[in-house]
Amino acid sequence: MNSSLVIIKIQDFISFLQDTTQNMKKILVANRGEIALRVMKTIKKMGISTVAVYSDIDRYAPHVRFADEAVCIGVAHSSQSYLRGDHIIEVALSLGVDGIHPGYGFLSENAGFARKVTEAGITFIGPSPESIEIMGSKIGAKEAVKSYGIPMVPGMDRAIIDKDEAIKVATQVGYPVLIKASAGGGGKGMRVVQNAEELPEQMERAMSEALSAFGDNSVFIEKYIASPRHIEIQVLADQHGNVVHLFERECSIQRRHQKLVEEAPSAILTPEVRAAMGKSACDVARAAQYQGAGTVEFLVDEHLNYYFLEMNTRLQVEHPVTEWICGLDLVEQQIRVARGEKLSFTQNDLKINGHAIELRICAENPAENFLPSTGTLNRFFLPDMENVRLDTGYTEGMEIPVQYDPLIAKLITWGNTREAAMNKMVEAIDHFTIDGIQSTLEFGKFVMRHDDFISGHFDTNFIQKNFDPKTWEADLDEEKRAVASLAVYLYCQDAERLQEIDHNGSVWHTNRIA
Ligand code: ADP
Repeated sequence: MNSSLVIIKIQDFISFLQDTTQNMKKILVANRGEIALRVMKTIKKMGISTVAVYSDIDRYAPHVRFADEAVCIGVAHSSQSYLRGDHIIEVALSLGVDGIHPGYGFLSENAGFARKVTEAGITFIGPSPESIEIMGSKIGAKEAVKSYGIPMVPGMDRAIIDKDEAIKVATQVGYPVLIKASAGGGGKGMRVVQNAEELPEQMERAMSEALSAFGDNSVFIEKYIASPRHIEIQVLADQHGNVVHLFERECSIQRRHQKLVEEAPSAILTPEVRAAMGKSACDVARAAQYQGAGTVEFLVDEHLNYYFLEMNTRLQVEHPVTEWICGLDLVEQQIRVARGEKLSFTQNDLKINGHAIELRICAENPAENFLPSTGTLNRFFLPDMENVRLDTGYTEGMEIPVQYDPLIAKLITWGNTREAAMNKMVEAIDHFTIDGIQSTLEFGKFVMRHDDFISGHFDTNFIQKNFDPKTWEADLDEEKRAVASLAVYLYCQDAERLQEIDHNGSVWHTNRIA
């Protein structure tokens, strides 16, 4: 074959690739619950067809009913349904799907799945498998960003399973230390260690937790930052080398190292620290040759020093607060980037508008240490309210399955100021009716009304420090009793007034007889 023919063939191939990516006509969402529905809403808005996949117990779920097409991919246990990557790809191919959006959780950070999707000729709406691999290991991620001079928590730069070595490193770093699973996520495999005596046992526990959760028992040691805030930066990168950040999200209200309330912007960052963290986050994205939406997580200490934790190579649960303050639809941006489009704005075009707060409504009982709660959503209703957004994958009458994440909804509020957003959250909680299960809904009010949250002086220990389940439960009962007494009092007053009117032969009396 002569060289000009080879060039034409390559050009044909490139335009074939451009055709398949740019004319994305049908997208499969490999997820369930609120995120599947939220992603599909944007896909539909963009004029693209949607395909849902579901397990048998999800057959009546809103994401299934919303989709243009839906395919059952197995039984409830996620290993038999939502984690069956090969089967999902087969379904996609049989339906002529040209893009797969993984949502968060399940297969979203599985480099092997992303690679197989691409090899099947389908666009994976997310970063490349290589970027996922680099950031998939917390240690690997630190190694990758080393040359950019990004501040890191002092600790080890490699994973170990040897206890003596761990003791040596912990002594150098200084107690307290944190043992972390190298392949960690969701707060699993993490143990705070106060001294050398505790270390072997805690390491044993962290390793066995890591093995059962991730199939990898290697751990590493970091200095435990005493009063840390979890502040993360949203980044967005296209395939043409443009990278921007969409400011920060404050995610310090956590239980079991997992977030419950998030807000944007943070109440404490100065414009200078925000700019520095934003730059570091963009550098992390560059180090991973990142494309799409991603999140760079940092710990911030009381002096506003920040330390790189890890990068999440997917859409985050808490992305709506960023969407609200930036006026952008992040799923739309993900799809545009995957189609090969350039970002249509620069860093200077992005401004923070107001304040947004998200409350995760989980089927958990705050009074029982946030233990999962199951049951049927006998009542589940929130009226339409201005500056309130509800992302959920559930409707009244549905069962909460034990097989999946306890997150049932995300309540997001916006205000011109932080105070307005907090007041709006309390108002929305008061208007929200959830019956049949225990949830974190009312706990949201505890946070919004707490002096430390209001003042902005809190860290990741907020719940441990301030939340006493028994007192909270008693206060809640007291509040419910007060509301019930007020209702009875108002009813009696009304009844008395009506009786008086009756005796006086009022118009009301006449109308009633008529
Ligand atoms: P995962 O991936 O399991 O969620 P992360 O590394 O993102 O783990 O950390 C989760 C949470 O654990 C953080 O938000 C923070 O509250 C806490 N944490 C992590 N590293 C440290 C540290 N070195 N010091 C203190 N707290 C930490």
